[in-house]
Parts: sequence; C-alpha cells; structure tokens
Amino acid sequence: MNVTKTSGVCEKFISKPRFRNYEKVVVVVIDALRADFIPSVTRKSEFNITLPFIDSMMKNKTILSFINKVHSPTVTMPRIKTLTTGDISNFMDALTNLHASELKEDSILHQAKLHNLKSVFYGDDTWLKLFPDLFIRSEGTHSFFVSDYQEVDTNVSRHLESELSKTDWDIMILHYLGVDHIGHAYGPYSDLLPPKLREMDNVVEFIYNKLRSKSEIQSLIIVCGDHGMTAGGSHGGITKSELLTPLLFINTNPSEATLKNPFKKIKTIDQVDFAPTLSSLLALPIPTNSFGNVIPQALKFCGFTHDQILHAFFRNVFQLFEVYKSVFPKKSKFFIRHIKKVVLNHSAIHQVKKVKGSPIYNYSYLPKFYMGLLSHMKRDLLASVAEYNLSNIMIGPKPMNIDSATPVNFLSLPSTSASKSSPSHITQKIKPIPNIVNKKRFKELTCIPSISEFFSMLAENYE
Ligand SMILES: [Zn+2]
Repeated sequence: MNVTKTSGVCEKFISKPRFRNYEKVVVVVIDALRADFIPSVTRKSEFNITLPFIDSMMKNKTILSFINKVHSPTVTMPRIKTLTTGDISNFMDALTNLHASELKEDSILHQAKLHNLKSVFYGDDTWLKLFPDLFIRSEGTHSFFVSDYQEVDTNVSRHLESELSKTDWDIMILHYLGVDHIGHAYGPYSDLLPPKLREMDNVVEFIYNKLRSKSEIQSLIIVCGDHGMTAGGSHGGITKSELLTPLLFINTNPSEATLKNPFKKIKTIDQVDFAPTLSSLLALPIPTNSFGNVIPQALKFCGFTHDQILHAFFRNVFQLFEVYKSVFPKKSKFFIRHIKKVVLNHSAIHQVKKVKGSPIYNYSYLPKFYMGLLSHMKRDLLASVAEYNLSNIMIGPKPMNIDSATPVNFLSLPSTSASKSSPSHITQKIKPIPNIVNKKRFKELTCIPSISEFFSMLAENYE
C-alpha cells in the first residue's frame, strides 16, 4: 500500500489528524445520478421530479449542494477510484470496468483503517473487489442484472435499520444501483425513474432521522452520483449529462453558523475534490496521489473555523505539491517560492497573534492565496492526465510513479531565479502573490521565524 510518507517535519505535521467534527459519516452513492435528477440542485431541469425531503432541506438551507463534475471515463469503477483516491484513473480503466481488482493505491478507506476508523459497506460489489479487506461488515449487490432495479436496492436498504443502531462504525458507504439500471433498461424519461428517485429521497430521510435522534453524536450525510447518463440511459462518454452529478452535504446537527448557504450561483467542483475534502472532514491524511482541492465551503458548512480551514489548505498544498513535483519537476521549482510566501504569511498571523494578542493582518487574503496555488496545481495535473490518456490509447498505460517523489526540502529552497528556468507560459499563467506581510510590522516581531521554525510554530498552533 502506498501511504503518506513520514520523513521530514512537514510530512509528520501534515499527516497528523486533527479537527474531526464528525463521529459518523454516511456516504450515499446513487449510481448514474445526473445533476438534473435533483431539480432543486440545478434549479433548472427537464425532469419534473419532486423529492420531498431533499427539496425541503434545500429550501431551508440545511443542505449544501454542489455540481460535481466527474472525469472521463464515465463508468463506475474508475469513478469509485476517484471518489476514494482523488486520483483520475487512466483510460484503460474503462476497458477493465467489469474486472476490478484490489486497489493498492492510497485511499480514504486505507487511511481510515490506518487511523482506526471502522467502515461498513452495502451496495455495488465493485467496492468489495477494490477494497476487499477494509470493511468490518459489508454485503455486495451485482450490477449485471440491469432488469432488476428493485431488489438490487432493497438489498442495500434492508441493512440500514440495524447498522444505524450500531455504534461500532465511523464511515458507512452505500452504493445504490437502481437508478442506473432503470437508465440502461428504459432510459431517464421512464415513468419508473421519479418513484425510484423518491425511494432514494426516503433513504436519505431515514438515515437523517435515525442519526438526528442521537443528538449526542455529530453526523454527516453525503449524497452523490458516480457519473450521470445520456438521454438514451447509457454512460461512458463525455457529454454534460454524463459528466455532471450532484454532491450534497447534510449536517444532522447544524449550528446557526453553518446554516448559511454561501452560494448565490451554483458552485461546480471537480470529482477529485471529494477525497481531500472528506479526508479533511475525517481528520485523515489526504490520499497520497490525490489531485484534488479541499472545498472550503464544505468545511465551513461542516463546522470548521477559519483557522481550521487554513490548516486544511496548508495540508492540501503540501500533499498536492508532492504529486505536482513528480509530474512537473521543472515547474515545481517555480511553485516553491509561492508556497513559501503563502506559508510564511500564514505563520506570521500566528506569530502576531502571540506577540500582540490579536491578528493584525487580514485573514481573508490567505484562503485566496492557498486556493490560487491549489487550483493551479490541480489544473495542470488534470490537463497532463488528459494528454496522457490520449497518447496511451495507442501505446498502452504506464502508471505514474509517485514513489520516486522526494519530500519537499524547505531548508534548501531554490533561489528566486528558479522562475527563469520555468517555461515562460507558466510564469505568465500564475498570478503573482502579493506580500501581505507589512515589512515594517514584521520587523517589530520579536523574531522572524526560519522555515523550519515556522513549521513547528504552525504545528504548535494547531495542537
Ligand atoms: Zn456507475
């Protein structure tokens, strides 16, 4: 298994779990759930579908919703891999979709087990082929009999009552296949679809009520699709209806602060963002190969403070930089300068807090800087895999070697002339990060931390 490396002070710090706000997280994957199958999420839909529970929760803003743009190929197995690893599987996965074998790559489920979180699973047995030893209890359903759209789901739901009354698990994953089967057999315009979606709505309501009745336990429900489906009910391509799925966060004990949906517009995220976000919510290290960016709005909705969100960004930047460096060794030198500057600013806030008793710098800058770095690295990585997949249709797959990446060594930072060695288009693309630390004020501090000091200082502040 490929787990987070532990060498070096920053590695140790990054992988240290913190801020676990939830005792139980239930992830409901509804296979082939198109974004517009939940009209209250897309606000525009050709489907006349009402989902009493989800619609009412959307209305009173106790659900935080996103459009989750999934990656190609839009078939189940590679999409499960992305949800759990944050990595985008290569094109060859489409060909082996029906022959999943054990996933050796670092994932949320591997990290959960390493950190003593117990997982249970019910639904599409692809999960059990990918993760044969990671669930304390499970039962798989088959996706071969597409004519069965009823039993395949009741075989999942029948476990809910007993599982939800047990206390020995931390993560429950459910993967319902009925919607996908209706799509394949009858298409999305079938009369069978609205009642099937209402059945899914009932499932979510049932879980919500069960978890909410235990008010002493903080729980989170996440509802998502793995991919969508075409007007003909198939999937595997790259049309909008296959690529766009919903992603819902439902907090069973929301506080006043979290009940403010921050979006006027519908926010779209990438499917790779799911894994680092869920990892952060569970206080687990982000899977080693993840390309994703944590979703700050989701963290906030789930009770993270501003400071905790900054810490999640910090962990994400260092994890993603490891991946970036192995794919773009030259460009990564250019990034180090920017990362250093952002983290230095981050640490300065804590330093000022200690010396003066209150922060003097505007906190609102930092998330923007972190997000700029994260989205830039993600964009480059996603683009590189798209190119890679195209070239490998002809020459076959070659796994990306993450193991060869060496840990970031901040004690031997390259000189600022590193940018000169970067290709010029990269230099133009990245936005300059202004130096928000006022030099004069910074001098007033009792000490200006060295790079190694600010790692331990940041660590201290998050103990
Ligand atoms: Zn699927």
